[in-house]
Amino acid sequence: MNEITVEDLQRLFQDIAEVMTAERDNLCQLDGVIGDADHGIAMELGFTAAAKAVGALDPIATDPAAVFNSAAKSFLNAVGASSGPLYATAFMRAGATVKGKASLSESDMLDAFVALAKGIQDRGKAEVGEKTMVDAWAPAAAACENARTQGKTLQVCLAEALKAAEAGREATKAMVASKGRSARLGERSIGHVDPGAASAALIISTIRRFFA
Ligand code: ADP
Ligand code: MG
Repeated sequence: MNEITVEDLQRLFQDIAEVMTAERDNLCQLDGVIGDADHGIAMELGFTAAAKAVGALDPIATDPAAVFNSAAKSFLNAVGASSGPLYATAFMRAGATVKGKASLSESDMLDAFVALAKGIQDRGKAEVGEKTMVDAWAPAAAACENARTQGKTLQVCLAEALKAAEAGREATKAMVASKGRSARLGERSIGHVDPGAASAALIISTIRRFFA
């Protein structure tokens, strides 16, 4: 695959925003069961703002790090829910990983992907098994790194990441929430998919499709 440019990243954010808009009601419905029913709105607002801010950057005068930093700032400003700072930190970390690069190699893109996942975990301090988006992001990043160690292409790494994220999303059904709003439900959260894990799998699916 060719180098990944600022324009590619602009299109990627746009794609994710469109998926979040299409899935807004489903995500709100999931959040309505164990949270406050706003997760779809938060994700749509956040990614629409990020796509708009990123899309307004001049691709000639901008580098990939600036794209991620702009996404972080606009996502944080647009989202009052707890997913706001989580994704803002994720994008900041992705930006820091690719600092100074004019465009991204496949390997740089994988670095950014893994940094994004780690950023969410560092910011929210959730571990796997606590029924959060980390249950999708952490196994996705691990699967990605594992495939990369075996010398796989970006496409294969992202396909492995998606498989792990979807398995993680499904696994949240059996978990008791212990972080975030749904923790108040305790055992009553069992049997329901975590909305943040569901949106994470959608984001990863969109990234995989973009690079397929
Ligand atoms: P809020 O809970 O403020 O309404 P959202 O509805 O946008 O925010 O997001 C809820 C999702 O955020 C949850 O489904 C969960 O995946 C995720 N989440 C909550 N707290 C944390 C945390 N500490 N670490 C990681 N993810 C978290
Ligand atoms: Mg909510």
